[in-house]
Amino acid sequence: MKIDLKSFAPLLLLLLLFSFSSCSKADPRFEQALGTICYVDLYNQGTEAIYDEIFARIDQLNTEFSLNKAESDLFNINHFASHEKVFVGNDVFKVLETAQKIAALTDGAFDVSIEPLVSLWHVNSPSPHVASQSEIDDLLPLVDYKNIELNPEEKSVRLLKPGMQLDFGGIAKGYVADEVAKICKKHKIRRAVIDLGGNVYVYGKKAKNALWNVGVKNPEFPDVSAPLLKISIPQMAVVTSGMYERFFEEGEKRYHHILSPKDGYPIENELASVTVISENSMLADALTTAFFVLGKQASLALMPRIEQNFREDFYVIFIEKNRTVSFSPNFPFEYKILYENWSSL
Ligand code: AMP
Ligand code: MG
Repeated sequence: MKIDLKSFAPLLLLLLLFSFSSCSKADPRFEQALGTICYVDLYNQGTEAIYDEIFARIDQLNTEFSLNKAESDLFNINHFASHEKVFVGNDVFKVLETAQKIAALTDGAFDVSIEPLVSLWHVNSPSPHVASQSEIDDLLPLVDYKNIELNPEEKSVRLLKPGMQLDFGGIAKGYVADEVAKICKKHKIRRAVIDLGGNVYVYGKKAKNALWNVGVKNPEFPDVSAPLLKISIPQMAVVTSGMYERFFEEGEKRYHHILSPKDGYPIENELASVTVISENSMLADALTTAFFVLGKQASLALMPRIEQNFREDFYVIFIEKNRTVSFSPNFPFEYKILYENWSSL
């Protein structure tokens, strides 16, 4: 039998077009989630299908970690866990286990039960509020990670005081970046940039095995594109917590979003920002918040214990209000400070 190829031509063309559109390179993608812009660039291996998978996972986690979506695990914890056990999914449980470990290692400097104070100050909203001492005094007893009870066998959560609420703002983006990196690994992506609002993960190898150049913002000019310093790193997460990220001003004073679980006020110390570099982005995220609360000396003193406990290397950059930049001991990466009136220790 002779096959007339001409009669198959339209079908072949369709098949060709279909396979081209499902495998061809797609543009980097971004969307609003986790209270920020989430941006992913998979370079020339990025197809619509892989971006779809990544952003579906980001959307799923955005829901699970949301405080006000009625179907979310965190909503259920905040509304019911002080009366009864609340059963949660793997994602929320894993984040909580890490959060609790870091809370214990930092003597509660990092504490996800900070939510009542976050809601009181409302820094991240259009209607922030300078809290009064009596309002803070009323809520402070609710902030204590020791009153969060986790049961790993059944993945359940109890909050031991009525009125307690949890907030994952200091750790969620780190977890999500790790999850996106896992999808990149599954698809054997060679290189990717995952940027979840300053929570950056440079994944894989840059062209010709070169290192990645990542900028760390100048806290005095966070919105200009020239960073304060540039570091050259292999595959790593680079996460920064800074007093310039979310804040409001009243009178002469700036009130920012990182709060002291001990006194309930925005942290005032020598630091303008802290950057943690690690292969574990969730750890880096929680540590930037914890180290910002603790200040430089206490953070440096705690580093060996945390490294031992997590069996994970990490490196820290402290940027101080007095225009000095300092690094944790044996900082292994090359860096360059791009502003003349700043010095490094
Ligand atoms: P980050 O930008 O990673 O430092 O996270 C700051 C966010 O974490 C805030 O917007 C709050 O939602 C939450 N947060 C503030 N203070 C603390 C704290 N001491 N421990 C844990 N989370 C905090
Ligand atoms: Mg953080």
